[in-house]
Amino acid sequence: MSLLFALNTPSVAILGQAERFPVNRIYCVGRNYAAHAREMGANPERESPFFFSKPANAVAENGAMLPFPSRTEDLHHEVELVVALAGEGLDAKGSNLSLAEAEAAVYGYAVGIDFTRRDLQAQAKDKGRPWDTAKGFDDSAPITAITPARKAGAIGEAHISLKVNGELRQQGHISDLIWSIPELIAELSTYYRLRCGDLIFTGTPSGVAAVQPGDVLEGHVDGLEALRITLGPRSR
Ligand code: MN
Repeated sequence: MSLLFALNTPSVAILGQAERFPVNRIYCVGRNYAAHAREMGANPERESPFFFSKPANAVAENGAMLPFPSRTEDLHHEVELVVALAGEGLDAKGSNLSLAEAEAAVYGYAVGIDFTRRDLQAQAKDKGRPWDTAKGFDDSAPITAITPARKAGAIGEAHISLKVNGELRQQGHISDLIWSIPELIAELSTYYRLRCGDLIFTGTPSGVAAVQPGDVLEGHVDGLEALRITLGPRSR
């Protein structure tokens, strides 16, 4: 087989390894922390978290200066624990996973930001339209190197936080997730056949807010590489 033109496979670094992790798909969980669901005007007692997705080539490298996205006056940060899936058996059985199969499918963890054009998302919600332009744009998913799960320590106990220009904006604990990591993988596998190379952004704690050109964002999850992203000027 030959292709009409070359197309790069998006990929993410792996801590302490020369090989990179090829990205198949990027799934995201909405409102998986009660405090964030409340700040978005939802009632987490009545509404469950839900899924949406970004294209694989939305990933951006840790340490990058990212061009400020077009078509938004309200770009928000959402710091998130990212789960990377790969494992024996996943490509053979990626659907309807048990909690044990879901745990076995975790290759490792990373810190990511789910950048959101909040103004476009508000319009989409208002008009009942899709979220793609609000969530799935270029460089909307910067991510650190992946730490293999065996080296990541007790990720379920970890603290997650985000600073903007040195000021603490978001913080929470992975133990506050409404859907735990195995639960959300198992739930996701009832909608999609999961594959090696899938990434899952697991939801953001409260404190989401707008960022500006020139801002420096630092995301942290205990046991993982820290994320540092600088936002460049608006393109004209
Ligand atoms: Mn998010």
